[in-house]
Amino acid sequence: MWRRKRVLVTGGAGFLGSHLCERLLEEGNDVLCVDNFFTGTKDNIVHLLDKPHFELMRHDVTFPLYLEVDEIYNLACPASPIHYQHDPVQTTKTSVHGAINMLGLAKRVGAKIFQASTSEVYGDPEVHPQTEDYRGNVNPIGPRACYDEGKRCAETLFFDYHRQHGLDIKVARIFNTYGPRMHPQDGRVVSNFIIQALHGEDITIYGDGQQTRSFCFYTDLIEGFVRLMATDKTVTGPMNLGNPYEITIRELAERVIEMTGSKSKLIFKDLPADDPLQRKPDITFARNTLDGWEPTVSLEDGLGSTIEYFRNLIAKHG
Ligand code: NAD
Ligand code: UDP
Ligand code: UDP
Repeated sequence: MWRRKRVLVTGGAGFLGSHLCERLLEEGNDVLCVDNFFTGTKDNIVHLLDKPHFELMRHDVTFPLYLEVDEIYNLACPASPIHYQHDPVQTTKTSVHGAINMLGLAKRVGAKIFQASTSEVYGDPEVHPQTEDYRGNVNPIGPRACYDEGKRCAETLFFDYHRQHGLDIKVARIFNTYGPRMHPQDGRVVSNFIIQALHGEDITIYGDGQQTRSFCFYTDLIEGFVRLMATDKTVTGPMNLGNPYEITIRELAERVIEMTGSKSKLIFKDLPADDPLQRKPDITFARNTLDGWEPTVSLEDGLGSTIEYFRNLIAKHG
C-alpha cells in the first residue's frame, strides 16, 4: 500500500538542511527536521511550519533518538571554521556520537542513511583536483582537526555499519557550497565578502588570496543529494559533490566588488593555520553514477542571487 516516505533531516534548520527539507516536501515526503539550533535558525524553516507534512524537533544528535523513518539525511554539524572551532569538543562529538546514534537508528528501523561529509577530509591536498581515492593530508592535532577528523571518523563508522550490519549508506563529500540562508556571521568567504561589499567595508583576504576554492550553488548540490539517495544499495560513495569551477580567493573578491558596484578596498590578513591552498572536486564518479549530474548554475548567477538575498537581509535587519 502506498504511503508517504518519512524522511529525517538532521541539521534541517541550517543553510543546506532547510533547502533540503523544502525539496523533500515538494516531492511529497513526510519530513522531520531535527536541529539543536546551534548554527541553524527557525527563520530558515518558519515558512514550512504550517505545512502538514513538516515536523520540527529540537534535539541534539549526540543524544539517542528513537523514531520510525525510511530515510535519514545526517547534516547536523557546524560547518564554518568560526563555528566549529567555537566548541571543538562538541564538534567532534556531533560528528562521531551523532553518526553512531543515527547509524544505530538506521540499523534498528532499516532506513537508508546519507552522510554529509566534506572535502575537508582531504585536508590540504597534494592531489589536484581531488578524486575520491585520494586519502588526504589532514593535521590530526590542528585547529581544524575537530571538524576534519570528526568527519573522517564518521565516514569510518558509516563504512563499518555498512560492512558489519549491511546498512544502505550514501556518503557525499561536499565541496564549498553557498547561497541564500548562509549564516551571515559564520565567517565563510562568500558571505563575508558580500556583506563587506554591501556595507562598503574593507574586503578581508586571508593570506595573499592566491589560494583556490571551487564554489557550488546550493540548488545544484541538493539535486546531487537527492539523486545519490535514490541510488541502489551498491552505491555507497564516498562521492564528491561540488562545482569544479575553480577560482582564487582574490578573484572572488574582485567579482563580488564588481557585481555589487561597491567601493570596498581589498585588505590582507594572516592566513589561518592549516588553511588548504587549493581545492577542486573531480566529479567524474558523480557524473557517471547520477545520470549525468553536474552543476548548472554559473558563479555569476549564483553570486547574483546570494547578493540579492543579503541585500534584502541587510535592508530588514541592518
Ligand atoms: P549550517 O551550520 O548552516 O547547518 C548545520 C546545522 O546543524 C545547523 O542547523 C545546526 O544548528 C545543526 N547542528 C549542529 N550541531 C548539532 C547537533 N549536535 N545536533 C543537532 N543539530 C546540530 O551548515 P551547512 O552549510 O548547512 O552544512 C550542513 C552539513 O553539510 C554539515 O554537516 C557540513 O559539515 C556539511 N558541509 C557543508 C559544506 C558547505 O560548504 N556548506 C561543505 C562541506 C560539508
Ligand atoms: N540509537 C538511537 N536510536 C535508535 C537506535 C539506536 O539513537 O533507534 C543509538 C543508541 O544510543 C546506540 C547507538 O545508536 O547506542 C548505536 O546503536 P547500535 O544498535 O549500533 O549499538 P548499541 O545499541 O549496541 O550500542
Ligand atoms: N577567507 C578569506 N577571507 C574571509 C573568509 C575566508 O580570505 O573573510 C579565505 C579562507 O582563508 C579560505 C577561503 O577563503 O582560504 C575559504 O574559506 P571558508 O571559510 O569559506 O571555507 P573553507 O576554508 O572551509 O574552505
